Amino acid sequence: MTTIAVIGDGPAGLSAALFLAKNGAEVTVYGGDETAMHYALLRNYLGIEERSGSEFQRHARTQVAGYGATLLDDEVTAIRQAGGRFVVTTGAGREDTVDYVVLAAAKKGSALAEPLGVPSSSDGVEVDGEYRTVVDRVYAVGRLARPARSQAIISAGAGAVAALDILSREAGEDVTDWDSPQDG
Ligand SMILES: Cc1cc2nc3c(=O)[nH]c(=O)nc-3n(C[C@H](O)[C@H](O)[C@H](O)COP(=O)(O)OP(=O)(O)OC[C@H]3O[C@@H](n4cnc5c(N)ncnc54)[C@H](O)[C@@H]3O)c2cc1C
Repeated sequence: MTTIAVIGDGPAGLSAALFLAKNGAEVTVYGGDETAMHYALLRNYLGIEERSGSEFQRHARTQVAGYGATLLDDEVTAIRQAGGRFVVTTGAGREDTVDYVVLAAAKKGSALAEPLGVPSSSDGVEVDGEYRTVVDRVYAVGRLARPARSQAIISAGAGAVAALDILSREAGEDVTDWDSPQDG
């Protein structure tokens, strides 16, 4: 099974994790729940008239865990490449080896990206239209890739785009995650 480390537990990371876990990937989300969402009152997230950012996060975390993703209250301190895979080290001393890394740690993500050879500037981490960085199998999503114009729905969208790219690459064809009422 494809293993993915999602580093950051705001809307960007949780959205990537939702799509990946829902489609059978083994996903671990790392983070300290220090998302800016705890300061937000959402009135501009399409489909949600009004909800506090903290409530949004509670629902999102439950939804992601419900599809089998592992959510760890543990921040990542370093990432290194090893034999075509990535070793993720945490503050609590965990070491996990994974196939893909999705960086979603907002401002703190640049410090993890640069040692991997992923360039960043005041405009954020450099990514292409699928949120791929220059390092194969490393993605950067959300505020980390777009610090100056950060919105929750844009971060969640970026996480979804990166996840579909990973799923499509693994499948060898374009993947969509579509459900219909008749599916039950
Ligand atoms: C006061 C305020 C009001 C806002 N109001 C709105 C609003 O009304 N509408 C709207 O759309 N947006 C609003 N925003 C912006 C919104 O909160 C952000 O756009 C959104 O949180 C960005 O999501 P993100 O996932 O990219 O980053 P974040 O939500 O910042 O998430 C980053 C996560 O990474 C984790 N992390 C950091 N370092 C590490 C590490 N080393 N290892 C693992 N995890 C790590 C953090 O704990 C955090 O949970 C507001 C922001 C603020 C501050």
